[in-house]
Amino acid sequence: MQVMVIGGGISGLTMALSLHQIGVPVRVYEAAREVAPLGVGINIQPNAVRELTELGLGQDLAALGTATQALSFFNKHGQLVWTEKRGREAGFDWPQYSIHRGKLQVMLTEATRARLGSANLRTGHVFESFEQRGDKVVARLRDRRNGDAVIEDEADILVGADGIHSAVRHQLYPQEGEPQFAQQILWRAAIDTAPFLGGATMAVAGHFHQRVIAYPIGPGTKPGTLLTNWIAQMTVPDRAPPREDWSRKVPKERFFDAFKDWRYDWLDMPALIEATDEIFEFPLVDRNPIDRWSFGRVTLIGDAAHPTQPTGSQAGSQAIVDARILTGELLRQTDPVAALAHYDATRRPPMNDVTLRNRNFGPEAALQLAEERAPQGFVDIDDVIPRAEMEEISSSFQKIAGLDPKLLNERASFVPSRA
Ligand SMILES: Cc1cc2nc3c(=O)[nH]c(=O)nc-3n(C[C@H](O)[C@H](O)[C@H](O)COP(=O)(O)OP(=O)(O)OC[C@H]3O[C@@H](n4cnc5c(N)ncnc54)[C@H](O)[C@@H]3O)c2cc1C
Repeated sequence: MQVMVIGGGISGLTMALSLHQIGVPVRVYEAAREVAPLGVGINIQPNAVRELTELGLGQDLAALGTATQALSFFNKHGQLVWTEKRGREAGFDWPQYSIHRGKLQVMLTEATRARLGSANLRTGHVFESFEQRGDKVVARLRDRRNGDAVIEDEADILVGADGIHSAVRHQLYPQEGEPQFAQQILWRAAIDTAPFLGGATMAVAGHFHQRVIAYPIGPGTKPGTLLTNWIAQMTVPDRAPPREDWSRKVPKERFFDAFKDWRYDWLDMPALIEATDEIFEFPLVDRNPIDRWSFGRVTLIGDAAHPTQPTGSQAGSQAIVDARILTGELLRQTDPVAALAHYDATRRPPMNDVTLRNRNFGPEAALQLAEERAPQGFVDIDDVIPRAEMEEISSSFQKIAGLDPKLLNERASFVPSRA
């Protein structure tokens, strides 16, 4: 069997490494001419860290990222609403890593080149269309390094891992149109700062319409600092969606005033914004869930399958898990079409659920309750949100996202080691 993966992002490279692990030949086509360390912070949850560890990449992850120990929610006044343990502290056998997305991308690229050979990671190739011919699938691609020459390649299976603007998905759903803009903007950056809240906490403060998120994503360049990812997010009722571009820089004046009073004893947000040179603007977007990912010999993974709002820090992790579950299916089933169909039937419902829950603030729903019930703050949070209600919000999301410690620690591997 030969597999073709379209897209050399987090999901596509994990797919390639996983197929290599089970001895299936694979070629990856990536549109970018060069792999660049683009992006800022991303979270890799224990379910995905388990998968990368089983691919032999656990130590690389540990060296690049921060093992996040707690997730803490605060109201806009900086009062603690809820805190929960994360990663090993929460009982998982694997940590949660907060990491620079570009560093993760480079690490996966280097591992792919080393294991599969550079010839099987073909950059500068833009997928345009596919055709299923008998028991093969043929892709047409544009070779940007060779004057946009059109080439064809054939495989037994084609996996669309080409992100939120997936051209593979577009061929399957030509009427779908652009991603849905949720009328919110995220301003994002990563800078070296002094550690806050113990140096391993992800902090979210505010409410649905305005919030800040800050967390360390690895060692800083200066002694005593950590590379810290921060996000300022706001509803912008009248704005048209800005172009989605992970590299577009904007001036801080665009949003600074709205956050100038968000100064707490545990984090000084205006000082953090002031100290930052490069700020990226990104619209909050996703797509409606679809009712089929697999069509014969073609399927979708990662953001191509279920682009989701970043609430709950799920996109990167679930992309990795998709690739591993699909690989497991291909290992177990002799008929690849049946494998793709089973992956679709089992994986799609929970991921569609995560997408819809994220639109409703996902695990951060407690912050909105705190804002609605106690906009001026509180003396005792238990009087505002009873503990049982808080626990229900947190645990119901974690279960659907595959983040129950007992279930994760005890389940068999998606891709059993052949040793
Ligand atoms: C440049 C970039 C920066 C990002 N930064 C962040 C961040 O800071 N924080 C965060 O949480 N998430 C970030 N993301 C999104 C995050 O990586 C994804 O949500 C998640 O990891 C799922 O990964 P994916 O592999 O499915 O999609 P992606 O990571 O989007 O990867 C898709 C890949 O497919 C390639 N591609 C697209 N179209 C074609 C085509 N027609 N032919 C061939 N290849 C194609 C793209 O170049 C890209 O490399 C970023 C994505 C990108 C592309």
